[in-house]
Amino acid sequence: MKFVNEYRDPGLGKKLIERIWRRSKRPARLMEFCGGHTVAIFKHGLRQLLPEHIRMLSGPGCPVCVTAAADLDKAIALARQPGVIVTSFGDMIRVPGSRSSLQQAKAEGADVRVVYSAQDAITTAGENPSKSVVFVGIGFETTAPTIAAAILQAQAEGIQNFHVLSLHKLCPPIMKALLDLGEVRLDGIICPGHVSAVIGSEPYNFIPEDYKIAGAVAGFEPVDILLAVDRLVEQIEAGQPKIDIAYRRGVRPEGNRAAIRLMEQVFEVADAGWRGIGMVPGSGLAIRKDYEQYDADKKFSVEPGPAVEPEGCICGGILRGVSTPPECRLFGGACTPQHPVGPCMVSSEGSCATYYQYGGKHGR
Ligand code: SF4
Repeated sequence: MKFVNEYRDPGLGKKLIERIWRRSKRPARLMEFCGGHTVAIFKHGLRQLLPEHIRMLSGPGCPVCVTAAADLDKAIALARQPGVIVTSFGDMIRVPGSRSSLQQAKAEGADVRVVYSAQDAITTAGENPSKSVVFVGIGFETTAPTIAAAILQAQAEGIQNFHVLSLHKLCPPIMKALLDLGEVRLDGIICPGHVSAVIGSEPYNFIPEDYKIAGAVAGFEPVDILLAVDRLVEQIEAGQPKIDIAYRRGVRPEGNRAAIRLMEQVFEVADAGWRGIGMVPGSGLAIRKDYEQYDADKKFSVEPGPAVEPEGCICGGILRGVSTPPECRLFGGACTPQHPVGPCMVSSEGSCATYYQYGGKHGR
């Protein structure tokens, strides 16, 4: 257990906290981009261990949460097509769309199935040759290579009835879009660990170079995150922003070339709609023409109607880092994990679900 236990070592964590307190003199606003980091920060109570003048903000790194209502509506409309089986990761099933959810569509007779991977969806396609099986492809650069591999597998096995609704998103373009929006002032960004294992740290170089903001890639154990905060504080105090890798066991500057090649073979960069942010140029992945027979967007034509956000839900502001869950008047009352109104309360990596589970009321 060497590579896990040492990153949960309370002694090491204490030393890092002491160093952060010693080093940090000026107020700093740090955003953890990734929902997995938000969960780890709350689970281990890390916000409370940092100096008051270090403010942690949650970012848009929850794939379920950032899926636009219009895209979810499309998945629901596909599920209602005759002869179609829609497969999806579990969290997506419960997310309310504009007028319904995949769960509700299933209750009304649509064939919606939870799968744990795109390979499971291929298996479903093999078992149901007379049906069209659509996999709802969400996620960032971490999952896109696995979906690309599934499409290549379907091609190699001659499976014709497997299709992917590609809703994949790219991290660096949305970070840039958020910084360009200028709604939230940041001094440092904790860059996602799993995504960076694929793309490396180099794609974030624009953060210090163009925006003079500190950056550090972090893993998901408490010591990983404290180490990243320490690196950010060091850069901020020195006035020398750069991109540090505080997750050397998982991330190299150039990333994983094989995974990148796989992703680029099947997908091409495309515009993508983000919940609460809107259409962001070059922030998504579309299936290349060579593989269009697997593209659910090309195979089916559905008109789900105009997208509507859940009334009173401020997920959009939370995903942009300008609001916190306790600022939502529905938080913990009309909206709970048992009865979620918006996606941030559904996903296990959503900010609202995390605040609710770990009791984060003060928004630090
Ligand atoms: Fe949306 Fe519920 Fe979060 Fe409010 S508490 S922002 S309604 S998900």
